[in-house]
Amino acid sequence: MSQVRVRFAPSPTGSFHLGSARTALFNWLYARHTGGTFILRVEDTDGERNTPEALNVLLQGMRWLGLVWDEGPEVGGDFGPYFQSQRKAIYDEYLQKLWDAGRVYEKDGAVFFKLEGERYSEYDEYLKMEVEKVRTEPQTIDDAVRGQVVRAEERDFVIVRSNGKPVFHLVNVVDDISMGITHVIRGEDHLSNTTKHCELFNAFGAPLPKFAHIPMILNSNGPGKMSKRGDGVHVEDYERRHFLPHGLVNFLVLLGWNAKDDQELFTLKELIEKFDLPGIQKGNARFDEKKLAHINTEQIRRLPLAEFLEMALPVLGEAEIQLDDPVYAEQVLALCQEKTRSLAELPEFVAYFFDESFAFDDKAGERIFKKGEPLDRLAEVETALAGVKAWDADSINQAFADLAAAQGQEKPFAWFPITRFAVSGIGAGPDLIPMLSIMGKDRVLTRMEAFLARYPEGE
Ligand code: GLU
Repeated sequence: MSQVRVRFAPSPTGSFHLGSARTALFNWLYARHTGGTFILRVEDTDGERNTPEALNVLLQGMRWLGLVWDEGPEVGGDFGPYFQSQRKAIYDEYLQKLWDAGRVYEKDGAVFFKLEGERYSEYDEYLKMEVEKVRTEPQTIDDAVRGQVVRAEERDFVIVRSNGKPVFHLVNVVDDISMGITHVIRGEDHLSNTTKHCELFNAFGAPLPKFAHIPMILNSNGPGKMSKRGDGVHVEDYERRHFLPHGLVNFLVLLGWNAKDDQELFTLKELIEKFDLPGIQKGNARFDEKKLAHINTEQIRRLPLAEFLEMALPVLGEAEIQLDDPVYAEQVLALCQEKTRSLAELPEFVAYFFDESFAFDDKAGERIFKKGEPLDRLAEVETALAGVKAWDADSINQAFADLAAAQGQEKPFAWFPITRFAVSGIGAGPDLIPMLSIMGKDRVLTRMEAFLARYPEGE
């Protein structure tokens, strides 16, 4: 077991933003890569927004993504409590250390942290008040992503507000120290806080953790930061839309991290193996929903059939597709797995396999009826298929080949579009021959007959 201890420290807001999820993922992967510990710490000091429902959205999102935490809510651990709202005694104790060391002073009811070094004047003698120090010599932060970051100016800063509430900088650092955090991996928006945090670590005599500030995520179009609100910016939107959790994970990891060889599709095992801090990029990442959809599709194709079935069957159930014959249902899903673009689309994609009253796509129909004599062709296919004895892909193939040969054609492709249309009502779908084979002889012939009966002779 390595000594690495990383944490994800969200403030629950009622939704789980993809940017936050990305931070959680980077921490989780780093812990798994190094054999370290992944801690979930809830920064719930913003009273009103921190409801049990808000926490639940977060925990559910983490579980759905598979980001299991080793210490934190529900699982506990030796460094708890894991809710900031329950750690007041610890903050008081650390604050007292700063008073004892003469590193704080009070002004206007608030407690200020004193920067080290020469002060312009320790006291304003007349007012008997501590004078705020502004330090102008540059400070350097050592960041695993950004390298040496120089920050020019720093001044004494408030660590307890006049209403008695400790400020983010204090509680964040106290938690990192008291939880033994070794690496702080978080969004670049916190880079500007990091000099303050370093000052506090030093004042407490604690070693600095390694910092890794991960790049911002920009909107897909334009220079702005990725939106905070709206459909499609939260983890729960993708759970609702039946995305594959691993599809989202694979997409999120690429928002600011690259494998050395530019590989884009990963198994979880590969990600754990390959993820490391040097692969995190400095430049901003860009949120691209099309890319997310593409990665999701690719990951669906790569799922072992059993896992695909486990995910797909409930989705079809929800869409009220009648799956009376489980063996047939599994064959259909196995056939469609590599063709469907998403689990959300799947019910529509496979509906005609299970429902005799499937609809006909007019556009596809028009296209097919423009060429040749499709009804004649269909009648020929019907006769040919009616003669197939052992109904399997090979025999069906043979029947089409014979039909083509009898008419002096090398390939039977001219008979395919109308056949597909008659049995499915659409112009595209899984490969025709295996589809006919799975549908079964009765269903195929019944559908063809019904189709031919719909059209008066000669149309
Ligand atoms: N609660 C802070 C946030 O959500 C945590 C910052 C940190 O990781 O240090 O941004």
